[in-house]
Amino acid sequence: MKAADQHARIHAIPSGFSRRHLLGIEGLSASEITYLLDLADSYVDLNRQINKKLDRLKGRTLINLFFEPSTRTQSSFELAGKRLSADVMNMTVHTSAVNKGETLIDTAMTLNAMRPDLLVVRHSASGAVQLLSEKVDCSVINAGDGAHEHPTQALLDALTIRRHFDRLDGLTIAICGDILHSRVARSNIYLLNRMGARVRIIAPPTLLPPEPERFGVEVFHNMREGIRDCDIVMMLRLQSERMTGSLIPSTREYFHYYGLDREKLSLARDGVRVMHPGPMNRGVEIDSAIADDRAVSLIHDQVEMGVAVRMAVMDALSAHLRNDLSKEI
Ligand code: ASP
Repeated sequence: MKAADQHARIHAIPSGFSRRHLLGIEGLSASEITYLLDLADSYVDLNRQINKKLDRLKGRTLINLFFEPSTRTQSSFELAGKRLSADVMNMTVHTSAVNKGETLIDTAMTLNAMRPDLLVVRHSASGAVQLLSEKVDCSVINAGDGAHEHPTQALLDALTIRRHFDRLDGLTIAICGDILHSRVARSNIYLLNRMGARVRIIAPPTLLPPEPERFGVEVFHNMREGIRDCDIVMMLRLQSERMTGSLIPSTREYFHYYGLDREKLSLARDGVRVMHPGPMNRGVEIDSAIADDRAVSLIHDQVEMGVAVRMAVMDALSAHLRNDLSKEI
């Protein structure tokens, strides 16, 4: 499809998302999720063309405000903003634990005075992005808040799965590893449950939140049992930076019981696919031979889908801004 046709196609999609912010997946309806995934699908097509640029955010300012380091998420948001013609600014803020709360609000108010249209925020404290969204005038996208939510990761994971299996409902998906510290796990559980998938979580008891069944998942401590008959195995990084005590005996032993290798994967359904949000600890939660095997690994597809999903989210939120403006005029 030519760029002009693509442009017309994207403009023709009626808006199905009227929220001002994207702070989490919890609370989104199946139709809102489907709308974002459909829009992202058309951005995948655009991103595969030579001319990848649209003017959807022309004249708008996007600020990436990261209080935690990030490589793929920040660059993915940056590229997404640029492909939609926004002016993009990146800010990485290093905070000490003592002044974290003050820095967050101060920085937000300073940036707010520069009149951005979209603020993409990552912070190590759960709830920090919501708090910030209450103080500023622009749209806010949560790029990960503590162990709470990482909504664009769940959307890009869902898009990756949907494009591969043509559906989400009825699939059995195992999320394995450090569930306790993972915002990726939480957002994925909300989304996959909402869309009719069956979600299993597999982890040692020390890496699970209290009463994990309240999330509407099946809980396994034995990886071989949990993986059996799964369509997707989603591996998580051991987040040692969030661990206060020693929650695993050693990384070697962890790999023995919970690391994904060929032998454990052979228990899953034929056609199983493997995912990981990155960054990976190779040889700790996943064997390199699996991570790099394009016949089973969807890890590169996840990165590609990330840009398209973030374009879709920004586009959806900016439609809200356009409505605001037309009311003012
Ligand atoms: N990149 C993901 C996140 O920000 C996963 C990870 O860091 O392990 O949560």
